[in-house]
Amino acid sequence: MDLESDQAFNCPYCSASISIRIDRTGGRRQYFVTDCEVCCRPISIEVDMDPDGFVNFIAKRCERIMNMLQQMKKEVINEKIEKTKK
Ligand SMILES: [Zn+2]
Repeated sequence: MDLESDQAFNCPYCSASISIRIDRTGGRRQYFVTDCEVCCRPISIEVDMDPDGFVNFIAKRCERIMNMLQQMKKEVINEKIEKTKK
């Protein structure tokens, strides 16, 4: 069995096809966040591996990070408004 395998998937935001490398030594269940190469939005990746090497792969929008980014944007905008008030 290879220690690494490539997994292709479509971006859940812009549906660009992306391929990432899964490190099989990282455990049978892995969870991580990657950025889309095209639209740069965060994608949460869930990997679930069978002992016989079958990879169950789920790519979905990372709402938690998207919310965080939106919150950060809001704060920046609020800061700008504060500055223009002065
Ligand atoms: Zn994308």
